[in-house]
Amino acid sequence: MKNQHQLTRFAPTPSGFLHLGNIYSFLTTHHIAQKENAKVFLRIDDLDKDRTRNNYINDIFETLDFLEIPYDRGPENLKDFKSNFSQFSRLHLYREALESLKINKLIFACDCSRKKILKMNPKGFYTGFCRNRQLSFANTDTAWRVKTPRNNDVQLNDYSGITITGKLPGVLNDFIIRKKGGLPSYQLASLIDDIHFGVDLIVRGKDLYGSSLAQVFLSGHLIGNQFSGNTFYHHKILKNEKSQKLSKSTGSTSVQYLRKQGKKKAQVYQAVADLAGLKGQYNKLEDFSILVN
Ligand SMILES: [Zn+2]
Repeated sequence: MKNQHQLTRFAPTPSGFLHLGNIYSFLTTHHIAQKENAKVFLRIDDLDKDRTRNNYINDIFETLDFLEIPYDRGPENLKDFKSNFSQFSRLHLYREALESLKINKLIFACDCSRKKILKMNPKGFYTGFCRNRQLSFANTDTAWRVKTPRNNDVQLNDYSGITITGKLPGVLNDFIIRKKGGLPSYQLASLIDDIHFGVDLIVRGKDLYGSSLAQVFLSGHLIGNQFSGNTFYHHKILKNEKSQKLSKSTGSTSVQYLRKQGKKKAQVYQAVADLAGLKGQYNKLEDFSILVN
């Protein structure tokens, strides 16, 4: 029998305007939540100050509103987000997790540059160069990495009901949990946020499958969480006509662009369906329930 789930989430990154692939992800998440009778939390990651823009955050609210895609918990607007939901209000939680990993000697400091890492491995896989160098954690010019086992498998509960056994991809060898400068990495912050808000069902694109493995692995080294018991659903990634992943630009697959062209809600839904290769008419939220049947 399948687990009962309480909470899933939308987790768009405010580093660009939402595109049709983001909408496809929201629609999949929405319908899985409906089926499971789970609530949806709107999570917006703003730790990356260089890429986060207020207008991108606003775009998330406006797009969900325009397409009338509901969610149950989380910020209602930019002001609410800044006051109550910004990741900067949870720095103490990230720090606590980093400290406990440090005390348990699971991490090490690394001062390697991207260039150096590429020189040691042309694919950019980290070779473990700094594992035994005992660099100081106090230096903010170093990143903190977690020691990942090279051959051990990580197990995930897949939404289909089966347990998937996977290996961390090479790009996540000894992945970074605290970036140079001192802020937590995406992997660490995403994990801590999902634990903090009580997310137990994670719907995300297949491109984040490695991140799911990394986060389950990391959760096993933190005390007092049930993250490894979570269920994961990895949906397909929409590609453009050149078979490229959609980018968060203002191009023809951004919702904002389509709206500026005068497209109505129904037409935007149809554009999502067309890009997803669905045949027939898809003009409203409910039409996409077939995604999870
Ligand atoms: Zn290093």
